[in-house]
Amino acid sequence: MSTPIDYKSHFSIHNLPYGIFSTPTKHARVGIAYENRIIDLSVLFELDFFEEKIKSNVFNQDSLNDFIALGKESWSFVRKKIQELLKTDSDFYKENHERFLYQQSEAVMHLPVKIGDYTDFYSSEEHASNVGKMFRPTMDPLFPNWKHMPIAYHGRSSSIITTNTPIKRPSGQILKGEEVIYSACQTLDIEIELGFIIGKENKLGEPVDIQHAHEHVFGAVLLNDFSARDIQRWEYQPLGPFLGKNFATAISPWIITMEALEQFTTDAPTQTQAVLPYLQEEKRLNFDIEISFDIETANNNKASVAVTNSKYLYWTMEQQVAHHTVNGCNLQVGDLLGTGTISGKEKNSFGSLMELTWNGKEKISVGNEERTFLQDGDTTILSAICKKGDIQIGFGEVRNLITS
Ligand code: MN
Repeated sequence: MSTPIDYKSHFSIHNLPYGIFSTPTKHARVGIAYENRIIDLSVLFELDFFEEKIKSNVFNQDSLNDFIALGKESWSFVRKKIQELLKTDSDFYKENHERFLYQQSEAVMHLPVKIGDYTDFYSSEEHASNVGKMFRPTMDPLFPNWKHMPIAYHGRSSSIITTNTPIKRPSGQILKGEEVIYSACQTLDIEIELGFIIGKENKLGEPVDIQHAHEHVFGAVLLNDFSARDIQRWEYQPLGPFLGKNFATAISPWIITMEALEQFTTDAPTQTQAVLPYLQEEKRLNFDIEISFDIETANNNKASVAVTNSKYLYWTMEQQVAHHTVNGCNLQVGDLLGTGTISGKEKNSFGSLMELTWNGKEKISVGNEERTFLQDGDTTILSAICKKGDIQIGFGEVRNLITS
C-alpha cells in the first residue's frame, strides 16, 4: 500500500487549507486542515470566535462558496485568527478544543466548492510540444496561435469529483483500424494539472486587468483530468474535447489558499514570442509546487510514475485569468481553471501516460507489473509539496480507483 502522506508537513501552520468534511455524526461543513486534524470552523463560529468580521455562519454549509464570496479581507482574517489560535496556549483553546478538533482519519472529504464552470487550459509548452510531436510529426509541434494566447476549452462541472470517488471506465465510439466500434476505453489516461478556484467575480463585459488577475483567485487544488484517449482521438475534430474528457475530473479536497502559496512563487519561463499588452506582466511568476503521480495496482504493487512541477508552465495563472475574461466573459466565485497537463523537459516529469509511454509504445513498471495506460483496479494518486527553507506545505492527495 502507499506511504501515508506526512500530515505534519503537508498541513503545517503555514498552510491552513480549506475543505468540506463530514464526520459519522455530523453533516458536511467547512474545516481547515491542521496536521492530522481538522478544525471545525462552523463550531468556532458558534463560539463567537469570528464575531468581529464574519456575521453569518458561512461555515455551516456543504460548500465554500459563501465564505469565498465574502472576499479577501475575510479570508485573511480567518487565516490570522486560526494561526493565533494554534500558536497560543489560550484559555479559549484549552476550554473548547475538544468541540472543534476532529481527526482527519474519522472524516469523509467532499467536493470543496460548487463549481459553476470549469475551463481547462493547455499552458505547458513541453506538453503541447509532446502531443504535436506524437500526432503531427511532420509539422511544427506547436500550432501558430500557441505562443500568442493560453489555449483552452470549456469542460464540464457535473462530473468533477474529489478523492476516494471511484471512476467507472468510460465506453464510447472508437476507431479501430478502419472500423468505428462501440467499446470500453482501451487507453484510459491521467493528466497532472493544477486547478485554480476563482474567488472574485468580474462583471459580464468587464475584462480583468492582468495586474489585478491574482486578486480573482482564492486558491489552488490538484487536478487529475482523466482522459479517454481513443474516444478523444476519434471525436475531437473539429470542435475539440467532448466525451473523452467529461466523464471524470478529480480535484484534491483541500484548497490551498493564495496566501499560503505566495511564499512559494518563482520566476516563470521567459516567453519567446511577444504577447499583446493585455497578456503582458511586469513580473512573471509561477508556483514552485512539486507534483507526484503514483499508481497502486489491485495486487498492491506501487510505483512513482512521474514527478513534475507547476513552475514549468509557459502561461501563468494571471495570463489565464486575463485571457479568459478579455472578451468580457464573467468568471464567478467557485469556477475552476485547470492549467492543462504539466510536463517538464525530462521524461519522468511528463504529465500524462500518453507522454510517459510515448502513446503506448514504451511500458512503465509498477512493481512486477507493466502499464501503458490504466487498468481496472488501478488507483491513481496525485500529491504535491512546496518547500522553501524550513517551511513546507502540501496539497494532501487525490486518489481514485478505476473500476470496470
Ligand atoms: Mn487537461
